[in-house]
Amino acid sequence: MKDRTLLMIPGPIEFEPAVLAALGAPTTSHLDPGFVDAFGQALERMREVFLCPDGQPFVVAGTGTLAMDLAGANLIEPGDKALVVNTGYFGDRFGALLERYGAQVTHVRAPVGGRPSLDEVEAALHGDQFKLMTITHVDTSTGVITDVRGLALLAARSGVLSVVDGVCSVAGEELRAAEWDVDVAFTASQKAVGVPPGLALLMAGPQAIDAFKRRKTPVANYYADWGNWLPIMEAYEARKTSYFGTPAVNLIWALNVSLGQILAEGMEARFERHRVLGRACKQAVAALGLAQVPLQPEFAANTMTAPLYPDDIQGAELLARVKEAGAVLAGGLHPAIRTRYFRIGHMGAANQGDLLATIGALEAGLARCGYQFQPGAGVAAAAAVFDGA
Ligand code: PMP
Repeated sequence: MKDRTLLMIPGPIEFEPAVLAALGAPTTSHLDPGFVDAFGQALERMREVFLCPDGQPFVVAGTGTLAMDLAGANLIEPGDKALVVNTGYFGDRFGALLERYGAQVTHVRAPVGGRPSLDEVEAALHGDQFKLMTITHVDTSTGVITDVRGLALLAARSGVLSVVDGVCSVAGEELRAAEWDVDVAFTASQKAVGVPPGLALLMAGPQAIDAFKRRKTPVANYYADWGNWLPIMEAYEARKTSYFGTPAVNLIWALNVSLGQILAEGMEARFERHRVLGRACKQAVAALGLAQVPLQPEFAANTMTAPLYPDDIQGAELLARVKEAGAVLAGGLHPAIRTRYFRIGHMGAANQGDLLATIGALEAGLARCGYQFQPGAGVAAAAAVFDGA
């Protein structure tokens, strides 16, 4: 494939051929028995991927932002108080979204690249009567990972629902929704779940469903209303048909293939593979003399890396040169530092070869921009991590 470039951004990612084949297969009826079975199986598999045996899965056509709406619209009633553990752009988005549904939102913030401490979040939780708390597992704008386990425990102790934006984490970062008392977790198909963009995937635990059922006011978003989708999910899981909105048939066939592959790898092996990929990329970037956005190593996600551009290098030019060398990387997203850093995604089907090729392309791009470094240092650092894994 002489014109192929590696898509190494934090979503969409490189997809497995079997997933793309399912997407390109002739479209079936959404009432076809084969499709009903595939949809039902995908729902069952979602519980295993989210590690949430007692959760209610939802698969709805839309992007990750719809998944945020599926959480916010169904759990917030006007006047409810919500706490946002804010680690970047997607925390800001969640706050704005919750306000749209009438929530009074408080943000616990940290400097860019940082994350609020558990003590700060606990103090905020004690400061008011919140209904829910949102946690961005990996904020894709900073590459900062939060301690979902610790945060969800704090929320549970305060009787507050925890809602985890796992768009840049689910099926890559360790997330144990039931064991960690996470009430809602969601993602989008185009990230570590490994399916082209177009599906919002959400898992609601029993307490979230309970809170939804106890609502006094109608859900202010017709399309996102769990009341419309719950019977559909239950029907397909029972291998029956039902209709609210036409399912994204091909994407759901592809989702079932990808979830099958994820479970065949095994969740523990998958978490570990992402840890190794994350470590390799970070070691490589450090060996090239580039700093990173996360302020401490333990704040850095495994699914992506956010390096700062070297001084005197034009970001747009570097990314263009890296692309010429075969890898597509993403520019900055966080408004406060947008032009100062770039982002490398390494999740889902990404393998050691992809990462080594990406670091090689990064080195080629840096060299073409006149940056002084020891050629091969990044590739060697990544290879050393793989050799030790
Ligand atoms: N949350 C996070 C953490 C994300 O990374 C993204 C997408 N980059 C979203 C939400 C929104 O997803 P989408 O772009 O699919 O609407």
